[in-house]
Amino acid sequence: MSNIQDKVVIITGASSGIGEATAKELAVKGAKLVLAARREDRLKKLQEEIQSNGGQAVYKVTDVTKYEQVEELAAFALKKFGTIDVLINNAGVMPHSFLYKKKVEDWDKMIDVNIKGVLYGIAAVLPTMRERKSGHIINLSSVAGHFVGAGSTVYAGTKFAVRAISEGLRKEEYANNIRTTIISPGAVDTELPSAITDMDLKPGIDEIYKGAIAADRIARAIAFAIEMPGDTAINEMIIRPTRQE
Ligand code: NDP
Repeated sequence: MSNIQDKVVIITGASSGIGEATAKELAVKGAKLVLAARREDRLKKLQEEIQSNGGQAVYKVTDVTKYEQVEELAAFALKKFGTIDVLINNAGVMPHSFLYKKKVEDWDKMIDVNIKGVLYGIAAVLPTMRERKSGHIINLSSVAGHFVGAGSTVYAGTKFAVRAISEGLRKEEYANNIRTTIISPGAVDTELPSAITDMDLKPGIDEIYKGAIAADRIARAIAFAIEMPGDTAINEMIIRPTRQE
């Protein structure tokens, strides 16, 4: 039996891309899924697809930048399934731009979704995981959490922060038997780059994303981390297209 069977897994940003692919991958392996994002039509469609294939999924419309909504998401998961085994903090935005263009609203959005959203998720599930002395928190960083490129400064800042928060979380909670995993993808074929409005960056981004890999590759890496026996934590994985620099 897979170590994923019957695990209760919350996925934020489940309405597209990596989150959606991960939901499908884990559903086939028997997880009980709690799907979260803002676009209800997408969540409903995914839930129906998973259920029609014999999987288990519920959804809750959630904006991860709203602390109360993330707390409500965790409470919803506990009510529906009685426990939370895994939280995948996957929701993220990437409106790259050069600093001098002063796209302050985009900076705020990245900080709110990519950093605060991750912290709110951690805050919402830690009490129950600490009480049970069991749990797994998976945070989506990026290769931009390791290297900074011109134009990706703020996004990279948020993804460096995700890695710092994940490592701090690990140090604080490993003794409580809570596993932490950082997933750092390279270019993955999703809607993520569509938020970029700085046209000076478009050609470079288009070039990088020409070689993007399918989202199921990241989903499979996430499943691998969850599948490991409970005494083993995969703390970080970098997953790039083979031909990405
Ligand atoms: P997508 O744009 O396809 O998915 C992003 C998801 O985040 C959507 O489901 C979106 O749902 C959700 N989201 C955005 N804002 C919020 C919010 N305020 N509240 C709740 N959900 C929100 O991109 P990816 O699948 O590629 O991105 C997933 C993660 O992977 C991100 O953290 C991203 O930074 C990371 N990543 C992606 C890479 C790539 O090349 N694609 C590379 C490296 C890292 P909705 O709009 O319905 O709320």
